[in-house]
Amino acid sequence: MNLNTLKDLYVDVLKDLYDAENQILKALPKMAKAASSTELQEGFQEHLQQSEGHVERLDQVFEFAGEPAKRKKCRAMEGLLEEGKELLESDSDPEVLDAGMIAAAQKVEHYEIAGYGCARAYAQLLGENEAVELLQQTLDEERRADEKLTELAMSQINLAAEEGKQAASEGRAARKRSTAKAQARR
Ligand code: FE
Ligand code: FE
Ligand code: ZN
Repeated sequence: MNLNTLKDLYVDVLKDLYDAENQILKALPKMAKAASSTELQEGFQEHLQQSEGHVERLDQVFEFAGEPAKRKKCRAMEGLLEEGKELLESDSDPEVLDAGMIAAAQKVEHYEIAGYGCARAYAQLLGENEAVELLQQTLDEERRADEKLTELAMSQINLAAEEGKQAASEGRAARKRSTAKAQARR
């Protein structure tokens, strides 16, 4: 791969994001399904819809750049989602799993925030003004999604995970309860 100009780098970043978003579109429904908290489920569903919009915006951004919309395997997103999948396949307590999924989702958001931040900066330097606008809109949505995950974690989910641990150490009854929940989830 030879990148000779900022424009080459810009298009490369766009292809990476285009692939990352498409990977996310496949992962989010699975995460929503695995979440125990209704609010977390809804959060993942909402971000799924937003992510469809992110792909559409990227289509337009490619068009402004006069380039075909192409994917280039984002190995970083592949790795992040692989870690998330490991968590989903684990036999974890439901509340702790929710807390872990929030952490996994925030890593995904931070990757996107970095990517869109760079893409927007390059678009600015290249004078692609319509693209700057679109990339900024997506960047704002990714940031907001990240903030919402933090709020959710701080307000209830991390706490629920901690309480779950205490209950489990208090006796077998609590352990049975969480096993029943885990089974109901399947
Ligand atoms: Fe996105
Ligand atoms: Fe990447
Ligand atoms: Zn996102």
